[in-house]
Amino acid sequence: MKTRDVNRQRRTRDAIKSHLVAEERHDPYRTRKKLTEPAVCRECMAVLRNGRWQWSTEALENAHWELCPACHRIADKYPAGEMTLTGSFVKSHGPELVRLARNVEALERKDHPVQRIMDVVAQDDRIVITTTGLHLPRRIAHALESAYEGALDTHYDEAGHFVRIGWHRDERATG
Ligand SMILES: [Zn+2]
Repeated sequence: MKTRDVNRQRRTRDAIKSHLVAEERHDPYRTRKKLTEPAVCRECMAVLRNGRWQWSTEALENAHWELCPACHRIADKYPAGEMTLTGSFVKSHGPELVRLARNVEALERKDHPVQRIMDVVAQDDRIVITTTGLHLPRRIAHALESAYEGALDTHYDEAGHFVRIGWHRDERATG
């Protein structure tokens, strides 16, 4: 049982890694055009250096304005990821679950400006969270799973540009 769990975790990690690579290389919001560096996002002030968007307080000599992939997606209302939480547990614990998702986002965003929550739509026993990156829904999913168990269901589109994750949990008799 223990061995099986370890293998499962390893496979999950590898999957995350390979999709991160896919995101860097093939995300149309990253490769639409080659940007001249250094660039600064005019919306969020993230800085593009060495091919990577990051938060920076360094001097910005000769920097020019751009729009980072996250702000670009937000402007276009075009998410990279969508998480749907369903079940009676979601109805009774909605705010707690969204707070967990927000905490994961805050941690992720410290190092990765392009990984953000776009929108949270809560409705009865269903919460839909859209994100600007492929990586963040996976992080949120794993945080939900380790805190509350539940059932996960992950789908990538064929090109690997969009991830859709479902998480389901119903209320248990024992709580
Ligand atoms: Zn931005």
